[in-house]
Amino acid sequence: MNQPNDRDSTPVIVARADHPISRSMISGSALKVLYRLKDAGYQAFLVGGCVRDIVIGMEPKDFDVATNASPEEVRRLFRNCRLIGRRFRLAHVRFGHDIVEVATFRAAGDPIEPDADDTDDEPAPEPRSDDRVHDDGGRLLRDNRYGTVDQDVWRRDFTCNALYYNIEDFSIWDYVGGVADVKSRTLRLIGDPETRYREDPVRMLRAVRFQAKLAFTLHEGTREPIARLASLLDQIPPARLLDEFQKLFLAGFGQRAFDLLAEHRLLEHLFPATAAYLAQEPDGMAARLIRAGLANTDRRVAEDRAVTPMFLFAVLLFGPVSAAAQPRFEGGSHAGQAIAEAVDQVVSEQNRRIGIPKRFSIPMREILALQPRFHRREGRRALAFISHPRFRAAYDFLLLRVEAGGEDPAIGQWWTEIQELPSEQQLQRVGTETGPAGQPEGAGRRRRRRGGRRRRAPATED
Ligand code: ATP
Ligand code: MG
Repeated sequence: MNQPNDRDSTPVIVARADHPISRSMISGSALKVLYRLKDAGYQAFLVGGCVRDIVIGMEPKDFDVATNASPEEVRRLFRNCRLIGRRFRLAHVRFGHDIVEVATFRAAGDPIEPDADDTDDEPAPEPRSDDRVHDDGGRLLRDNRYGTVDQDVWRRDFTCNALYYNIEDFSIWDYVGGVADVKSRTLRLIGDPETRYREDPVRMLRAVRFQAKLAFTLHEGTREPIARLASLLDQIPPARLLDEFQKLFLAGFGQRAFDLLAEHRLLEHLFPATAAYLAQEPDGMAARLIRAGLANTDRRVAEDRAVTPMFLFAVLLFGPVSAAAQPRFEGGSHAGQAIAEAVDQVVSEQNRRIGIPKRFSIPMREILALQPRFHRREGRRALAFISHPRFRAAYDFLLLRVEAGGEDPAIGQWWTEIQELPSEQQLQRVGTETGPAGQPEGAGRRRRRRGGRRRRAPATED
């Protein structure tokens, strides 16, 4: 199985009685789409992660449908439908907040994702010509041909993602041994792994993602080429890597994903400066901060609370930012200024890999540059900090630094307490409180000093 010369094979059909997928596990919206396609005489299957997730007893994140109806035919069937995708057209059928993605079977090759900047509001342009285009390294750049289900299966990445649930008779069609792999919790690429990674290097990140999310074991042939081919990721547009980064780190398994990225030597292609820093200081403060930040994000996801990539970027880039801030600080720059400049430098290097949009990099710069302000605990200026628009995010980051052992717990404690106090007691505190090192108020105030003694930036203490 899984070999190109098996591509003409017919599927193993697993009857309804022999698999666990019942219609009660499928969203109402997805069922409506499947039935309307079927009633109009088309084939309609659920495919991809949703089938896999139901089989292993997880709740699917979303439902993807595959059909032999063309995108235009899908659009004619659904009023609430728009076509998206520049390189390949997909239909999005909307029911309130719920979107069901409907893809027409493709003839061969890579299901190159919609461009990262595609939005629902953007109508799809006319499709381009029908030919397939590879670059010199074998990367499939364009594939615009529609096909049948037994052609569609071979372009999918992993066997567990290539199971088709047929709405006609509720059976599962399995061309690639996916059912057995799901049962044994094995992640295995369809076809020759090296070829498949070369076609689309992002599949290496997808391997890590599914390994982390599903706790599957990578099949040896699927695992082995990764470290060898990791540098192919350098050709991937930063916007697509940003997309993949968010799927890896904001879905509740970020800690595991991080460890796996490091293990497969992929981290250095996503966050080169961070990976270099961690290689020097594997057990330092920056490493502990990453652990604490990822654990915190995973916990928030589990509790259904909001998470932002901004915070994660701050956590992941903190080591390189500290290193870049240090000489500036020693040269006499004000700590906040040194950090802000360091962030600019680190972000501009980072943007060559994972592009960090300004809506994340600007607040990130601010919360990092605000860290030294937590050392100032006297006077009205300290109080005014609490009403700073970024205080909350900066304070959350401070607590993380405390947790990672990079800041005096008493400072975290002080800021936690003062927020709770009535205003007259707040005033009392900032009038009488002692400075960070137990000195009388005012001693913490810094003077600019050029050259002279070595200074340590407050936010970069180990
Ligand atoms: P998730 O649980 O994250 O939704 P998923 O398996 O559904 O996982 P998607 O990114 O939603 O992943 O993609 C849907 C399906 O499209 C996959 O299951 C896979 O069959 C196919 N696919 C997506 N990206 C690729 C790719 N880069 N190469 C090959 N097949 C892909
Ligand atoms: Mg999906």
